[in-house]
Amino acid sequence: MHKYDQYDPNSRPFLRLTREELREAYRFLYQEVLVSREAATITAQLVVEQIAKVEEVNKSLERANEELKKLTNLDGLTGIANRRYHEDTINREWRRCQRTNSSLAAIMIDIDHFKLYNDHYGHLAGDQCLQQVARELRRGARRVSDSVARYGGEEFVCLMPDCSIEAAINVAKLIRQRIRKLRIPHATSKIDTILTVSQGVAAMVPSRDTVPSELIQRADQALYQAKLQGRDRVVVYDESMADSAPKVHHAAGTDSNNAWE
Ligand code: GH3
Ligand code: MG
Ligand code: MG
Repeated sequence: MHKYDQYDPNSRPFLRLTREELREAYRFLYQEVLVSREAATITAQLVVEQIAKVEEVNKSLERANEELKKLTNLDGLTGIANRRYHEDTINREWRRCQRTNSSLAAIMIDIDHFKLYNDHYGHLAGDQCLQQVARELRRGARRVSDSVARYGGEEFVCLMPDCSIEAAINVAKLIRQRIRKLRIPHATSKIDTILTVSQGVAAMVPSRDTVPSELIQRADQALYQAKLQGRDRVVVYDESMADSAPKVHHAAGTDSNNAWE
């Protein structure tokens, strides 16, 4: 403790200081002020550094969250959007198309005899095949607003906002050609010697009394018909399919007018 720390400015002994003592007391106090000022500057610097560090941590947390969001929306095998992301997209686009009174189109795409592909070439080759098909579908999505997702197993879905049924049929025909052009050998397919896909197409202008799942159900019913009619083709939904059972793509069958090979 410094001797001046004991001085009480109101007490009499302080008043009795000599001129020299007062000068010393002044120097001491001046020194104290300088030290406090320096301490305040250092503290301010430390605070600024801490704020910068917190901001840096916040930024990396934001980046990590973005990455996590991407990962939860992407399919682990193919790297394209997953079913969960597709559900978000269709709900969002459905509402948007409802507001603008425009048509939302969907294509359900299913690889033909993929079980036979796996049985013949092995599961690993099957995985590579799925990756190749997914890459081609993503390349084939024409506009930025079009989205392609892995719906499950060897099934994919393509969503196209502001797209008429005619335009969607053309996209599906192009997809069929693009997949054929990959010329992925499929020795045990009952359709061809190369890998092929079947597709169901539907389009709806969303209204108050319809829901997004109806669009997917329609595309799925058309896909079911494509399988029935012999696979490797595009079938567009029509009302007569409303009661047909979707998601059982095993039987072979006849051709109809709304199918394109
Ligand atoms: P269809 O022409 O009627 O569609 O016949 P399919 O054999 O393609 O259809 P099915 O539903 O009978 O079989 C689908 C196959 O897809 C069976 C399953 O092993 C395979 N599969 C699903 N997911 C994966 C995957 O992630 N990797 C691999 N390699 N195969 C998968
Ligand atoms: Mg299949
Ligand atoms: Mg399938």
